[in-house]
Amino acid sequence: MVHYAPTPQGCHPGIECDKSGQNPIVGWRFKLKGSDPSYDLCEAEFNKLPDAEKANYEKIAPPARAAQSEALTADRAPDPAPRITSPCARASLPARYG
Ligand SMILES: [Zn+2]
Repeated sequence: MVHYAPTPQGCHPGIECDKSGQNPIVGWRFKLKGSDPSYDLCEAEFNKLPDAEKANYEKIAPPARAAQSEALTADRAPDPAPRITSPCARASLPARYG
């Protein structure tokens, strides 16, 4: 079995999987190199590709992280304004993968 890097928390707001339609893509995003507009896949779809095709994709970690990393700097008071609802929230449901 191939061991993949653990899927990072977070998502790619505004980036949709061009195969399954997952929007936003959660975890790793795989972007077809040189595609414009970008052609993107979620990890589930990327894993279905033959190795020859995988080589054409760029693996991108999610820019929108869960609030975890910020919670670690708990020295200061939390923001008075409620945080924007996580852009990843609605995608955390078990998607119809595949
Ligand atoms: Zn997908």
